[in-house]
Amino acid sequence: MQRILNHINHQFQEPATGKYLPVYDPSRGIPYAEVPDSDETDVNAAVAAAQAAFPAWSATTPQHRHDLLMKLADLIDRNLDNLARAESIDNGKPLSLAKAVDIPRAASNFRFFASAITQFSGASHAMNQPEAINYTLRQPLGVVACITPWNLPLYLFTWKIAPALAAGNTVVAKPSEVTPMTAFLLARLSAEAGFPPGVLNIIHGTGTGIGNAISTHSQIKAISFTGSTAVGGKIASLAAPRFKKLSLEMGGKNPNIIFADCDYEKMLETTMRSSFANQGQICLCGSRIMIERPLYEKFKNDFIKKTKALKVGPPLESDTTTGAVVSKPHLEKILSYFKIAESEGGQFLCGGQRKILKAPHDQGYYVEPTIIEGLSPGCRTNQEEIFGPVVTIMPFDREEEVLGYANDIPYGLSATIWTRDLSRAHRMARNIEAGIVWINTWMLRDLRTPFGGVKSSGVGREGGWEALRFFTETKNVCIRY
Ligand code: NAD
Repeated sequence: MQRILNHINHQFQEPATGKYLPVYDPSRGIPYAEVPDSDETDVNAAVAAAQAAFPAWSATTPQHRHDLLMKLADLIDRNLDNLARAESIDNGKPLSLAKAVDIPRAASNFRFFASAITQFSGASHAMNQPEAINYTLRQPLGVVACITPWNLPLYLFTWKIAPALAAGNTVVAKPSEVTPMTAFLLARLSAEAGFPPGVLNIIHGTGTGIGNAISTHSQIKAISFTGSTAVGGKIASLAAPRFKKLSLEMGGKNPNIIFADCDYEKMLETTMRSSFANQGQICLCGSRIMIERPLYEKFKNDFIKKTKALKVGPPLESDTTTGAVVSKPHLEKILSYFKIAESEGGQFLCGGQRKILKAPHDQGYYVEPTIIEGLSPGCRTNQEEIFGPVVTIMPFDREEEVLGYANDIPYGLSATIWTRDLSRAHRMARNIEAGIVWINTWMLRDLRTPFGGVKSSGVGREGGWEALRFFTETKNVCIRY
């Protein structure tokens, strides 16, 4: 049983409580490691270390921070196999996916913000009457917290840590207690890259154990959070009255809108990914699929055929397309939605069951990729985030009708639109309530672009300058001459 430790001031430390939580291998449904069940004492120690490191770190040049972030990116590349395997075991995602997407993207996050900080600048505003000049400083905030979920563990952890460090802040980071392994491995690599002690502190534990202590800590100046809408709300309720800067990336229930004039093959292939990649556990997955009626039956038949051909299997096996979902509680949540969908009159076109594999994976958390039809847009199955390999399909006749289906929901993270009609594509993009709209593609990411949601999906934007602006404070200086 491997023991994960907190990383404070470059020391690997036991939690003050002396207590640990089991970490499960979802592919087999058994504990394989243990993670600190830390408390406020550990948060205080991590914040103290970060505070002590801040003056020297914030005084370093952008070039120096660039060099260290690049070193860390190189170390991630060098450890690709090891990190990908660890991510796959911890999370249940296919090893091929971790190797092709999660870990390379973690390295890209560091490279991107390493370069970005060397180009980041303030503004200046000249005045004529009276003659004066204003210039704007963008200064690091101090100690900032990064809190991340289990679905893309290292990918999202580094997406926050990289801009926070690049901008000159010191960091207290908390990965999900469900998937803590790659954050633990990153702690080692950060020391090897040469980051000074206290600059990046990684502590492990639950929301109640350390999350609340982070949200209320007087020395934490900003919190960047990715996770569920419910937890985002809790953090906001504690942090907002303390006037911390907040960036909240939360849940989604995204529409995938398919018009009959689309590039059919490209749409079908991409819709398979946007429905079932990472077992449907990507906040950007298009779990509500709306198809223009003339295409409905053809799409339905082809989509079912392709979905039935997916290979649900152990994540480490090379032909597995669909691994295990992350945990037993999450498996149970997904299965509970099958009952809800049934009671709402949904018809299961495929899937709808837990999948039992052969030993030693017979206790693993596998779910058959599932397609449901016949549900109303307003029912619970279509309104609540299931976050599994489960999609609904429904026909539509008119543009305004489908826009209503897409927008009539508390969430607004992303949307995908498939059409060859350029005017319609622009019209839909303008009218859809989402922070991110993809037309004739899905999850095509340019790290310079703003990333985030509207309504219950998010407050604030990550990515590019948005992230560097979030992790800095603006100060205007006015000089009269
Ligand atoms: P979660 O909200 O349960 O947990 C996220 C993180 O918050 C974990 O580290 C958790 O320990 C911590 N946490 C829990 N309670 C806390 C508290 N009271 N105070 C502070 N921290 C607390 O989310 P999850 O189940 O890990 O992840 C799945 C969710 O994340 C889904 O809703 C998904 O849509 C969302 N998500 C959103 C995005 C996005 O970019 N918008 C990306 C990925 C995942």
